[in-house]
Amino acid sequence: MTDIRDDVADAFFAFTGREPDGIWSAPGRVNLIGEHTDYNEGFVFPFAIDRRTVIALGARDDRKLRIASAFSEELAEHDLDDLTPDALSGWSAYPLGVAWALGQFGADLAAVPGVDIFIESDVPVGAGLSSSAAIESAVAVALNDVWQVGLDLETLAKVGQKAENDAVGAPTGIMDQSASLLGQTDSGVFLDCRSLDAQVIRLGFAEAGLAVVVIDTHVEHEHASGGYRERRASCEKGARELGVSSLRDLDEDDLPRAQQTLDDETFRRVRHIITENQRVLDTVRTLRELGPRAIGDLLDASHRSMRDDFEISVPELDLAVEVAQSNGALGARMTGGGFGGSAIALVPLESVSLLQVAIDGAFAEHGFTAPTTFVVRPSIGAQRDR
Ligand code: ADP
Ligand code: MG
Repeated sequence: MTDIRDDVADAFFAFTGREPDGIWSAPGRVNLIGEHTDYNEGFVFPFAIDRRTVIALGARDDRKLRIASAFSEELAEHDLDDLTPDALSGWSAYPLGVAWALGQFGADLAAVPGVDIFIESDVPVGAGLSSSAAIESAVAVALNDVWQVGLDLETLAKVGQKAENDAVGAPTGIMDQSASLLGQTDSGVFLDCRSLDAQVIRLGFAEAGLAVVVIDTHVEHEHASGGYRERRASCEKGARELGVSSLRDLDEDDLPRAQQTLDDETFRRVRHIITENQRVLDTVRTLRELGPRAIGDLLDASHRSMRDDFEISVPELDLAVEVAQSNGALGARMTGGGFGGSAIALVPLESVSLLQVAIDGAFAEHGFTAPTTFVVRPSIGAQRDR
């Protein structure tokens, strides 16, 4: 198998005519459970995957930032002295935004050297596996080392989030960066989005003979961002009418009162958040007490809640989940923000190929675009590779 770390060193040499100072990488992620809970100050439980964005970096003797990526023909060039979030756009807003955000978290950008960066990745872009957090986290750990900023991984997650919020302009939470930076082999990152307390929890899928299959539907809905905003607004309305600062302050005992107080649609949105938070906690507890084969029902229930209460699924995702469930999966759910993207299924290893064939067949029968299915393994987070 070719190693993209060799490719990236060669590409860096072709780009600059010299060897890089080092090579760093960071993974994409899959969210195992906990959807739309992050901005309600609730719980999420993603894991880092074995698809990575790799960067080769070398310091310069001037103040220029020069960034190239196998992803694009464009070479991005920027001066450290006029690095502001408003000046950034396109794909290079991710890496350059991280350089700017490091300054917001204490790096002395007036005193650091410019750098050349070459980027390669095998994280599919826009498939819901957070290629954005992978690029942000890889650049964050590399610059943190080379510029000797000394920030810990939790703070680097905030740096990546700030780059995405302010330089890219996407109002996302901190889940993706936390998974990409804090992930460990065979483990997930259980994150409390209120305290930002993160715990690495062993998943043990491989040892239990299980695989996680991602089914990328390739569906991209125009109203994904509108739908996201509407769901956020419903959650805020529900919290306001129930007199709490966020839905995190409610649990299943509050459901009868919520049903009496709220209109039907807002109630169902709120019920998804309350029950989803509980399912994340139950998943962590079940893993510890009974092991990974016992979490399938929680994944199934999470999907039903997103389909019926939060209403963010689409027919392709429902089909992927149903076909997985009737072809050996212990549990399956759509993952990510919804209105398209990917589903995941927890599958005994011996059923993986059967399930892939069944999914392809069912999608063809329904006249849907052929999906891409592949196995992901819970893997180590961002690191220096060489
Ligand atoms: P995802 O679900 O993959 O995170 P996003 O839209 O959040 O989708 O982020 C994808 C964007 O991140 C790309 O359009 C590009 O601008 C940037 N990006 C991701 N990976 C790379 C890469 N290897 N090189 C350059 N830009 C990248
Ligand atoms: Mg993203």
